[in-house]
Amino acid sequence: MELVAEADTPYRPPVFARFGRGNSLPDVQQACAAARRTSSHAYARSHFVPQLDGLGLELMELCLPHVEAGRLLGYVVATYSLSDLLSTHIGPQMGRSQEISFTEADGTRLAMHGLARRGTRVFTAQQLLDLPGTTMVLRMDSWRRSEPDLFPNVLTALVTVMSIALVTVLFMLGHDTRRRLRVEQDLADALAFRKAMEDSLVTGLRARDLQGRTTYVNPAFCQMVGFSLEELLGQGSPAPYWPPERADEYHKRQEVRLAGHNAPPREGFESVFMRKDGTRFPVLIIEAPLINAQGLQTGWMSAVLDISEQRRVEELSRASQERLQATARLATVGEMASLLSHELNQPLAAIASYATGSINLLQENAPPARDLQLAMARIAEQADRAGRVIKSVHDFVRRRDQAREAVPARALVDAVLPLVNLQARKLRVGVEIRVADDLPQVVCDRTMVEQVLLNLARNAMQAMDEARVPDPALVLQVRATPARDGGRRWLEFSVADVGPGIPEEVQRQLFTPFFTTKAEGMGLGLSLCRTVVEQHGGSLVYEPHLPQGTIFRFTLPARPEP
Ligand code: ADP
Repeated sequence: MELVAEADTPYRPPVFARFGRGNSLPDVQQACAAARRTSSHAYARSHFVPQLDGLGLELMELCLPHVEAGRLLGYVVATYSLSDLLSTHIGPQMGRSQEISFTEADGTRLAMHGLARRGTRVFTAQQLLDLPGTTMVLRMDSWRRSEPDLFPNVLTALVTVMSIALVTVLFMLGHDTRRRLRVEQDLADALAFRKAMEDSLVTGLRARDLQGRTTYVNPAFCQMVGFSLEELLGQGSPAPYWPPERADEYHKRQEVRLAGHNAPPREGFESVFMRKDGTRFPVLIIEAPLINAQGLQTGWMSAVLDISEQRRVEELSRASQERLQATARLATVGEMASLLSHELNQPLAAIASYATGSINLLQENAPPARDLQLAMARIAEQADRAGRVIKSVHDFVRRRDQAREAVPARALVDAVLPLVNLQARKLRVGVEIRVADDLPQVVCDRTMVEQVLLNLARNAMQAMDEARVPDPALVLQVRATPARDGGRRWLEFSVADVGPGIPEEVQRQLFTPFFTTKAEGMGLGLSLCRTVVEQHGGSLVYEPHLPQGTIFRFTLPARPEP
């Protein structure tokens, strides 16, 4: 057990230079004895060796028996520096955040590596090193000055991940709830809007399912028919607002509708409903299929309009139109009163003179019966003539039958001719009538059409008179137009003059009511003429009459041939 040879590492300052190896010998000997016993290597307890630079090294010896052919020749003793062991085997990286050290079992630090920093938290790991001959502890301390690593261990990581997930879910839930609330709010607004709209609507709304039961009505509908919501909802056929006398007809109509055979007209159809108090009133119904969100038809939606007021207004306007026409006719006659008195003057004067003559004859002793008879006959003749004149005016003013009838065109012209002639004679206008014999009859309201003819003739004669045309002439013509509209025939009436024509500024307002260029004119003539002609389905136009004058033409439907 004597030291035979020794070598110090050439890579560092000599370790045993100051105190030699003598101090550690007992320990080495003990280790070698153990090594010999076990025929293996053995370690000695570590020990501190002061160095020349004033520091020291913790050293540990390893003893290896040197055996050759079963004979123990000696021992090799190697010395480790514990701190160098740590610093060479543990990279600098690890030493930056941890402290790694060898300690004795009781915690005495033998050698260490790394920065001995202190922080708020210490994480320690220990490993017992049970070496043959000695026991040490390898210990690692890690300090955390502030927060630990994000995931110190799996559980924490898991909890963290789940917490994050939870928070995310909560956040999304919150977001979703907010969005849901917003949508609900919007929906509530939309509903309120719809409700306000339905309530403010004066149009009645009614929805029916495919079995014909009422599924919805709005307040306007309830008000219109006078039944309450409860009385209407769920009611099938016959509905409470159907007039009993029409229930069958309505029921059939509803069946056809529900069978889907014919779509209701877009512009709606008219019908009659009954109020709760039994009064009937006209309605306009516009129906449309009720399609649900899946695109399936679930029933019919109807908009119902009470048109009794509209009817009343129409009736009023029709009545006032009629009154206006009557007024225009009276005005025409009024204008003609002077002509009329002139026309009546002649027969009345003749009657008067015949009457005076007769009285004179009667005063004679023996009145000649033949002369008296002749005078009386003349008186009767003249009275008849006056009567005819008056009758023609009377007929014209009084005739009020509105009905359309088939009238020969000639009869229309003849009816106005006395009145036209009355004026023509005064204004010295030559009147020519051209009516073919084989014309079909005209279907019209004859009073109205006569008025149109008279108006146009009067306008023409007045225009010629005003312009002082040398040879005033009026042509009243009726002819058939070429067939049109699938064979329906039309007759064209025309009134031509040789007057001054119509200046452009007058043309623009020609058909405007109350437009006139005459001092005593009413300006209603042409506008009424056009209304009347259009009511018959025809049209009223005018054009220059070459070389001079104007032609007014209008068409009226002919009676269809049987
Ligand atoms: P009124 O005869 O009461 O004036 P009308 O509506 O019949 O009303 O005619 C409107 C105007 O059209 C007349 O004032 C006249 O100036 C013009 N007019 C109508 N017919 C003719 C015509 N044949 N020739 C020239 N002007 C005409």
